[in-house]
Amino acid sequence: MKRVLSGIQPTGSPHIGNYLGALKNWAKIQYDYDSIYCIVDLHAITIYQDPKELRAKIRELAGMLLAIGIDPAHSALMVQSSVPQHAELAWMLTCVTPVGWLERMTQYKAKAQAQETVGDGLLQYPVLMAADILLYQAAIVPVGDDQTQHLELTRDIAQRFNSLYGETFVMPATHLPQVGARIMGLDDPGKKMSKSTEGTGHAISLLDPPGAIRKKIMRATTDSNPSVDFDNLGTGVRNLLTIFQAFTEWPSGRVREHFSGMRYGDLKKQVADAVIAAIEPIQQRYHQITQRPGYIESVLEQGARKVSPIAQDTVRKVKQAMGLFTAG
Ligand code: ATP
Ligand code: MG
Repeated sequence: MKRVLSGIQPTGSPHIGNYLGALKNWAKIQYDYDSIYCIVDLHAITIYQDPKELRAKIRELAGMLLAIGIDPAHSALMVQSSVPQHAELAWMLTCVTPVGWLERMTQYKAKAQAQETVGDGLLQYPVLMAADILLYQAAIVPVGDDQTQHLELTRDIAQRFNSLYGETFVMPATHLPQVGARIMGLDDPGKKMSKSTEGTGHAISLLDPPGAIRKKIMRATTDSNPSVDFDNLGTGVRNLLTIFQAFTEWPSGRVREHFSGMRYGDLKKQVADAVIAAIEPIQQRYHQITQRPGYIESVLEQGARKVSPIAQDTVRKVKQAMGLFTAG
């Protein structure tokens, strides 16, 4: 069975962009593959995180991943730092990655710009991500569109390693959703929705109460047209239509027919209804899951135990290929 690997950072609160771009797909395709889903806490610390908050966010995010449908009886749900081979392999891959490749990354440039001091981890971020994927010899990586560039880099790193040291890694393919691969900020449809972007009107958290969701959508930035014109769609309106379509899974023709000529106020009401209807059951499951004492911890432990042998096996192969010391 082919392997799937994907990760999400325990930064901020998971939002509908994360859900539509990645998490929904995780749950959908999990049974077709040997699936590993990872809470990437080592990635989160590439930007300073308050330790107490980070610890709480890891647990919260695990609860959310279970609530959106990750089935721990089939898929491994684990925390990156609980399997030391992620960081170990990252070092070996760092040594085959030209700095120029990393300096070109869009995410690095955007995130570095917002920092007073840029930690080296921010530059190395995509190498650690390559390690996450290659460690498990994953063939499929379901992510949002913003991670396409990092996936290309992962393939470049794998190819370079394979050509220097012999065939070692499976070449991973990017898996994007057809609709919702890039959800934009509600306050600024020129920027992708992000957990780490400030502003109350920016993102809809999967844990937002219905009233807050409605308010944020009603205030979303649109344009100066009065109603939906598919021949002249502004980015804000396009984003709202994408959110609606990704949640309802309506075909494009039906969306076009239904919303053509609709006033923005009415469009927003319908988008809010669709988002609330989809998120409410997730929130109910989340509250049930987080109330079970010890449950999340046991799922995460079980996940780490399940994937550890795969990680150890890959690192042993890499060490042998590179001529590093291996006992026995
Ligand atoms: P941060 O701001 O801390 O980077 P983030 O919102 O970008 O947070 P990540 O944890 O970096 O979230 O990414 C988790 C997954 O969600 C990735 O697969 C990523 O491609 C996807 N994703 C993130 N933002 C969006 C978005 N706006 N639309 C669609 N998918 C997204
Ligand atoms: Mg991100």
